[in-house]
Amino acid sequence: MTLVVCGLPIGNPDDISPRVLQNLREADVIAAEDTRTAARLLQKHGLAKKIISFYDHNELERTPQIIKMLQAGQTVALISEAGMPLISDPGYHLVAAAREAGLAVDVIPGPTALITALAASGLPTDRFAFESFLPGKSAARQKTLLALQDDSRTLIFYEAPHRINETLQDIARIFPERQCFVARELTKKYQEFLRGAAAEILAKLKTPRGEFVIVLAGRNAAASADIPPEAKKLLAALQKAGLPDSQCVDITAETFRLARNHLKKIIYSL
Ligand code: SAM
Repeated sequence: MTLVVCGLPIGNPDDISPRVLQNLREADVIAAEDTRTAARLLQKHGLAKKIISFYDHNELERTPQIIKMLQAGQTVALISEAGMPLISDPGYHLVAAAREAGLAVDVIPGPTALITALAASGLPTDRFAFESFLPGKSAARQKTLLALQDDSRTLIFYEAPHRINETLQDIARIFPERQCFVARELTKKYQEFLRGAAAEILAKLKTPRGEFVIVLAGRNAAASADIPPEAKKLLAALQKAGLPDSQCVDITAETFRLARNHLKKIIYSL
């Protein structure tokens, strides 16, 4: 009948919503990325349900089977091991197929690591790009990062503990000045937030364990972050007074001993 995409906690079990539990209770079948985690979750909440596996490597094969269940009038709840299904997790093909077949799809939102990290980062949230996991090999990773160099949106990456150091090294190489934020073990006992340039964060992360989200300032935010608020105020005041842009930049650069180039980058966004 309905495919219900259910968001689970990203670490803290108390973040499960009553509506997710109600939908799991009412589902005929639970399609789970990790059947053992799902079984434990259902047991904890006193639910006995049919669970079928639904992970990266059987998503394509499972999709037509689940479509048949839905067409036969069953309600199927889709869950990931943690967080929102479809977000760096399986589910996209299934939702697309259900939509294509004209079947009902519902979603019960829950936490997702990228939004949780972004909200904690102190970096601009109005425009952002989620890049999921960067490539595992350094050459490909650097190429991807270089392609993002001019992106003015806040950039968000997922990273595994065995790659976080290498990835931060590449970020430090390509974006040495940019403000970076690393969220480790969000919502869990050892939650940790690290802020600064990538090289500074790297120095604090000796033997990294756990799960990581990297949030990186976009291009303009980086330029703007280097400029003290007083300088921005002066620049805006001079501009408001009607001085030509080049003069506003010259006066502010001289007053605060700042690079003209940095000021030029932000004057147009004032
Ligand atoms: N579907 C999940 C979501 O909605 O966020 C993401 C699944 S993805 C396979 C797993 C990655 O998400 C981890 O390697 C890590 O980068 C990030 N992640 C998930 N939970 C996290 C947490 N509690 N703290 C930090 N990062 C987390």
